[in-house]
Amino acid sequence: MTNTKQDFHLSEISLEAARQIGGEAATMVAVNGLNSGKPNNLLPFSLFLKAVEQAPVAISITDKKANILYINDAFTTVTGYKASEILGVNESKLSDKCTPRQVYYDLWHTISRKQIWHGQLVNRKKQGQRYLADLTIAPMLDEFGAISHYIGMHRDVTQAYYAEQQVANQKQLIESVLNASPVAMAVLDEDRKVVLDNQVYKMLITELGHDEPALFFLEALARENDGFWDVAKARGGFANHELRLEGAARRGVRWFSLAGNWFVEHDACADNFFVKQAREYLLLTVNDITQQRRQQESLQIEALRALLAEEEHLRSIRETLLGAMHQISQPLNQINAAIQIMAQRNDAKNQALHDLLNQVRLHGDETLETLQRCVPEIPESAVTPMNLNQLLHEVMLLNSTKFLANGVVVDWLPNSVLPPVLGSANKLRMLFKQLLDNSVTALNRAGSTERVIKITTGFDADWVKVSIADTGPGIPLQQHAKVFEPFFTTQSRGGVQAGMGLVMAKEIVNQHGGMIAINPHYTSGCCFDLSFPVRPRNVSAVNGYE
Ligand code: FAD
Repeated sequence: MTNTKQDFHLSEISLEAARQIGGEAATMVAVNGLNSGKPNNLLPFSLFLKAVEQAPVAISITDKKANILYINDAFTTVTGYKASEILGVNESKLSDKCTPRQVYYDLWHTISRKQIWHGQLVNRKKQGQRYLADLTIAPMLDEFGAISHYIGMHRDVTQAYYAEQQVANQKQLIESVLNASPVAMAVLDEDRKVVLDNQVYKMLITELGHDEPALFFLEALARENDGFWDVAKARGGFANHELRLEGAARRGVRWFSLAGNWFVEHDACADNFFVKQAREYLLLTVNDITQQRRQQESLQIEALRALLAEEEHLRSIRETLLGAMHQISQPLNQINAAIQIMAQRNDAKNQALHDLLNQVRLHGDETLETLQRCVPEIPESAVTPMNLNQLLHEVMLLNSTKFLANGVVVDWLPNSVLPPVLGSANKLRMLFKQLLDNSVTALNRAGSTERVIKITTGFDADWVKVSIADTGPGIPLQQHAKVFEPFFTTQSRGGVQAGMGLVMAKEIVNQHGGMIAINPHYTSGCCFDLSFPVRPRNVSAVNGYE
């Protein structure tokens, strides 16, 4: 401890104290100080005295019992007491008496052990107003190392405390609002670190089994749209971005609506006091809209059931007519061949037969044309980004009664998220329905004890993949390509309609730029592998802030 220097200051201040209050104690302090202090060769004593007198902090010097011996001008400004009113009075005069006694006990316990005490007390000004004093008390030692005086320095921090409390209250308010919100919220910094979250978000961590669901959601958004992060940031945020999530560990599917807003926070760090630094944060809100979506889905399923029944009806008429045309064109081709042979032989004897055959061919062609005109077109539906998980799920719901009635168990193994595929919902639903119907038929035909249809989805950089496998009798390897030809059937009782389902399936896959094939390595039944190109990623899908 720099006793010498401290004593030197004290001696100057004590001189002033002696001047202000006179009396034996003060004079003694001054004399003691002068005796022990080392004079400063460069600065005059009066300068030190002025420094204390004019310091913008309320300074008081007391004896060992806290009786005030000296005050500076700032003390008068803060407390309202002039020197003539307070010198010789105990510091307790300032006490508002609402400060807990334990605080005083701690104060005295500290300073009487020659340590510095710092803390806050509630004081009262001369006029009676309360204020919060930020007080530091330091013991002053004599040349023997014993406490001779105390110096107290305090500031009125009422305003600062008020502002601090306002901030704390606002923070608490924000936290309670965040926690009361039924929507999961997380604030991420520029390094994508979650710096603030709420209770619902914490629940998502457990429910989804991801350490940081915010990152999982943002990655899923970025996967759907190239440069999503940058574009959304440039627009200040994004809104109403829906994400479908297949339930982990076979828990049901969930839907979330995501929104994000960037905001700027100015750095409160002292280093950046003059050169303002700002940091950007993203407030991500995740709204679980599963219930609404489920309700919508069940309504939609009813509508789809009707639509699909209508389409199936059309398709069956189409196939019947195409089948009939196929049946008619076979004998017609033979007649055509006979006419050509007769023409080559120039057989005049059979002219009557030749004319008859020609007539039959003409009637046949007319009939084919009439039939062709009657073949109904399957209505086109708009091409939009599709989530195949959703479509497959819908088709499974549509087929649920059929599965139950036929004792078929569906093993649904979707990838938790899928990039979208550009496609026509109607056609893709028809495609999946056809493949599932085929599987049920095959399972019934085989009379298998294990009646399982396994539906798996997945994706890589370019393709979304779907596989539909059953535990039926399977299709022999040599027929793997043939089954996609018109009117080919593995069933004995084909009828005119049989053999067109997979033709239609392949046509739909082709229209979507995809591929369909029977997996040659699958031996437990039949497995159709389908791939669809991932929708070309673009940033226009960052909606809500256009
Ligand atoms: P008091 O009866 O004065 O004391 C309460 C408790 O404090 C006692 O039970 C005891 O544990 C302890 N105590 C008191 N005096 C002594 C002592 N001499 N030695 C050991 N323990 C003791 N108080 C304020 O409220 N506002 C101020 O701005 C303020 N500034 C101060 C500045 C200095 C330099 C010093 C030394 C003290 C200051 N105090 C201040 C403390 C003040 O002296 C009183 O102790 C306090 O105000 C409580 O007063 P009281 O009358 O309620 O209780």
